[in-house]
Amino acid sequence: MKTTWLFLLLAVSLNQNSVDKLYLLGKFDPSADSRFVKLTAQYAQGSALNGYLRKETFEAFKKMAVAAQKDSVPLIIISATRNFDSQKKIWENKWNGKKKVDGVNLTTVSDLKERCRLIMLYSSMPGTSRHHWGTDMDLNSLENNYFQSGVGLKVYQWLTAHAADYGFCQPYTNKAGGRSGYEEEKWHWSYTPLSKAFLKEYVKQVTYADIHGFDGSEQAEAIGSIESYVKGVACP
Ligand SMILES: [Zn+2]
Repeated sequence: MKTTWLFLLLAVSLNQNSVDKLYLLGKFDPSADSRFVKLTAQYAQGSALNGYLRKETFEAFKKMAVAAQKDSVPLIIISATRNFDSQKKIWENKWNGKKKVDGVNLTTVSDLKERCRLIMLYSSMPGTSRHHWGTDMDLNSLENNYFQSGVGLKVYQWLTAHAADYGFCQPYTNKAGGRSGYEEEKWHWSYTPLSKAFLKEYVKQVTYADIHGFDGSEQAEAIGSIESYVKGVACP
């Protein structure tokens, strides 16, 4: 009996896709987690130079970037894993007016749900970001405009045609088809062999009671940060 339990425990701990709630909420340090790997300068720029991804994600990305390069298409990671603490900084800088959102200081928006909605056009509440998982990354530019002409258009067309061959998918597509949540992000790509499992676990394990520890967190349920945003994806 004891041996059976031991094997069961071993099997669970060896399953790379098994993640606990703290992981899903981004409450860990990727630089101290052996499942993560530091990005190399060849593939990253800016803050992503000190960034991390899950090993499987980065391996698949490198294969994709090499193939893209052969077609003269540059793929550069500009943001990778962001844990709860770094997402909290981004969120609270916007919430408290330190960083304007579309030219607006959000402390002038007294309706707190509306303040959330404005931040959540493009940014997640801490604890609800796919960037917590080590499966998601932003490529080349944080402006949809960049992807509409020239090199950017070439990049987007290449990704649309080939990213799926490497396991990558754009979760935040055009909302015309009725998708809820964030606006379109042509730069944000997910490694679905892992993110699919993590989204399933997230929906199973995380509730609104787990979303706390930052300014405005009490609005999480009213705005539907799980129902409309975490689940508002075009691919898992
Ligand atoms: Zn992103």
